[in-house]
Formats: sequence, C-alpha cells, structure tokens
Amino acid sequence: MNAQKVLSDLKRRFPNEPEYHQAVAEVLGTIEEAYNEHPEFDRYNLIERLCIPDRVFSFRVTWVDDKGQVQTNMGYRIQHNNAIGPYKGGIRFHSSVNLSILKFLAFEQTFKNSLTTLPMGGGKGGSDFSPRGKSDAEIMRFCQAFIAELWRHIGPQTDVPAGDIGVGGREVGYMYGMYKKMARENTGTFTGKGLEFGGSLIRPEATGYGNVYFLLEMLKTRNIDIKGKVVAVSGSGNVAQYTVQKLISLGAKVITMSDSNGYIYDPDGIDEEKLAYIFELKNLYRGRIREYAEKYGCKYVEGARPWNEKCDIAMPSATQNEIDGDDARALLANGCFAVSEGANMPSTPEAIEEFINAKILYAPGKAANAGGVSVSGLEMTQNSIKLSWTKEEVDARLKQIMFDIHTQCVKYGTQSDGYVNYVKGANVAGFMKVAKAMMAQGVL
Ligand code: NDP
Repeated sequence: MNAQKVLSDLKRRFPNEPEYHQAVAEVLGTIEEAYNEHPEFDRYNLIERLCIPDRVFSFRVTWVDDKGQVQTNMGYRIQHNNAIGPYKGGIRFHSSVNLSILKFLAFEQTFKNSLTTLPMGGGKGGSDFSPRGKSDAEIMRFCQAFIAELWRHIGPQTDVPAGDIGVGGREVGYMYGMYKKMARENTGTFTGKGLEFGGSLIRPEATGYGNVYFLLEMLKTRNIDIKGKVVAVSGSGNVAQYTVQKLISLGAKVITMSDSNGYIYDPDGIDEEKLAYIFELKNLYRGRIREYAEKYGCKYVEGARPWNEKCDIAMPSATQNEIDGDDARALLANGCFAVSEGANMPSTPEAIEEFINAKILYAPGKAANAGGVSVSGLEMTQNSIKLSWTKEEVDARLKQIMFDIHTQCVKYGTQSDGYVNYVKGANVAGFMKVAKAMMAQGVL
C-alpha cells in the first residue's frame, strides 16, 4: 500500500469531505507498515474496501413545527463495514451534520468497535436537524419522521443505531417507539434505550466512565495517581457529565466544562453538588453553561475553548477538531501530561503531532471513548438473552473491556524507546481484526 496514493485517490473520488479525509489519513499513516507485511491484502484491495463505506443512505426528513410550518432536513445512515458484526454506531443531530462528518465517524467507529472485542461492525447516521430551542413535541415529530424513512434499513441483526451529539435518552426513546411501530418487532434495534424497555444500566455513564478507566490504565504505566490532579474537560453533554462524575469520585479536581458558546473556569473545582446542578441545567432545562458561572460566581469565557487553562490532564468531550496546534502547544506549555479523548477526533493532526512528539500520554477517541459502544454491545447481548445485568456486573465488564483495549494499544503501539504510541496501537489492533475477517469472507 502506498498511503499517499490511496489518500489522493479518495480525495479525487470524494472531494469536499475534509473530515473523512482527515480520519482516513490518520489511520493510513499508522497502519502502512503492518499492512505491508501482508502482501495478500493488496491483491484483495483491502484498503479501498475498508476506507469506502459499504453503502450510504441519504433522505429528506419532512416534519411540522409548532407553528404549523412544514420543515425539511437531511437524514443519513452510513453502513461502513459489517465484517465482524452488524453495523453499529450512533445518530447525531446537529446543524453541522453532513456526509463528510458522518463518513469520518463511521470509519472511526469500525476500528473502535473492532477494538472492543465485541462482534460489532461500524456505522453512523444523523441529520442536520438542530434540537436546540425545539419543543419536546417538535423533537418527537422530527424523530418519528426520521425513522419513518430509516426503519427499513436497520434491524437487530443488520444495523443497530444509538445516540451521539444531540441524541440522548429522549430522542432514542422516540426513535425506538416509531421503529417498533413500523417494523412490528420488539428486539431492541436501538441501544441507549430507557431502562423500562430494554436499556442497560451504566449505558448513559459508559463513555465518560470508560474514558476515565482508560486514563487510569495510562497513568498506571507511569505510576501516576489521579488523586489531586487538575483536569480540564470540554463539553457539558452526556460524555462530559459522566467523565466529571467519575473524576470527582476518584479525587481529581475538574476546573472546566464548556458548550458551543464558551467555557467556565472554576478554580475551586466542580464538586458533586455543582455537578448535580449541571445535570439539571443541561438535561432538564437545556440551558447554557454560562448560567453555571452566574450561579457560582466563577469565570466564563465566551466563544473560547478551555485549553489555555493550566491543567495536568485534558479530556476533550465535545466535538471534532476542538484542540488545534496552538491549543496543544498551550496545554503542553502549562505542563499537561495526559490527554484522553471522550469526543471523536477532537484533536487536529497538528495537535496529535505535538502530543506524540512531546511523548505525553495521549489516547485517541477510538480507544478512550470505546466504553459507550461497548456497553451498547452489552445492551444488545442482554436484549438477545432477555435478561438485565446489575449495575455492578455491567461496570465490571466495562472496566475489563477498557483494560483489554489498553493492553492491545500497548501491544501494537510500543516503540523501541518504550513510548506507547496509542494512536498507532489502536489503529493497528482495530485494523488487523477487521482485515482478517474480510479476507476470510471473500470478496464482497
Ligand atoms: P451531547 O449532545 O450530549 O453533548 C455535546 C456537548 O458538546 C455539548 O456540551 C455541546 O454544546 C458541545 N458541542 C457540540 N458541538 C459543539 C461544537 N461544534 N463546538 C463546541 N461545543 C460543541 O453529545 P455527547 O456528549 O454524546 O457527545 C460528545 C462527543 O463524544 C462527540 O464527539 C461524540 O461523537 C462523542 N462520543 C459520544 C458517545 C456517547 O455514548 N454519547 C460515545 C463515543 C463518543 P451545545 O449544548 O452548546 O451544543
């Protein structure tokens, strides 16, 4: 494989998809050596078959707002690769959603799902619909209209969606309800469902908790204790909230959270009581993070990201490309020694290069945030066997999976000088399993 040629061909065939190109470039740059040890891969053109999704659905979603006005949005589902199991990946509702973003997410998801050790392929979907400022009834009508189109392409053995940005328990509930009505079956085609209808305990917590479990494994390699460490977190949605909850319980000091308008800096640290306020603010009243600063009298910075604040550890948990080269240099200059990604691809290629050159502990999202999809996989298992596991049981399995992912990263990513390149480790480990499965199944 010539990674540069593969990438330039993809850019020519799929122009104007920068996020997709970025995700592919990051993977190709790290797997080339391992790939070239298997000449048979090229004969089977594995690389193009792995980079280009199996199929892409796009459709118009038509719905009626509260004023009686008819609205349209675009809906998409990318079924990227199902070599090791049904397509699996979340649905994102955000005004920025387009094919490029969903293709990058579906591509990443394929490697991430492979790393979890569970039998799940990769997919992703979403819409440019923005839930912000919409009434509950509008959200419900939109979710129903979205599924009225998508339902025929998904199913418990074919494609199992879940939540992502803008899609939490409420939206999954509305989508699953409509799916059930259309498909006339009740086998748990979505994950992230409510506990009353097949959801798993610990699923809401899983991505954030899993990221902290992964961080703990990384810290262990350098004999560093999390207690008392100062952590900058971005975002204030599902992933950020449970990341902060777990960090507080372990004695770390979280000093920042953010939303798309700005960030708060609380030098005393966000404690359990303040975090309970954030849960209420974001999940119930759907307010802005600025209100935290007003309530607790701390600093709020409009239109900025928290990476200039001094911290030991950074845990980006909002969105893609939220740490650029300058942010990375600012973090390093302030003594940050670990970055563990809750969001998908939050660091730009330049930022990643800075982290790896500085030899800090750096965990890419496809390894560090795999806890979410892992517990989704466990939810699928519980639905299949029609049993529910206890909180303790699911949490123990989550911990074990994050431990195993860390072990795989160390196995495939340790350099001759002992530094663990987690990007390489995650990409090679994730790739090898999917590649072997594709080879074994013939040309499809
Ligand atoms: P939520 O919608 O619950 O929260 C997203 C948070 O990020 C909000 O605080 C939101 O602010 C902020 N945000 C979104 N877009 C932007 C933007 N363009 N610039 C700045 N801030 C932004 O989503 P999740 O917490 O579920 O997802 C966060 C990240 O984690 C995403 O990258 C997602 O792909 C990834 N992820 C999520 C998993 C899950 O299980 N939910 C699993 C694995 C990864 P605002 O409210 O202002 O929009």
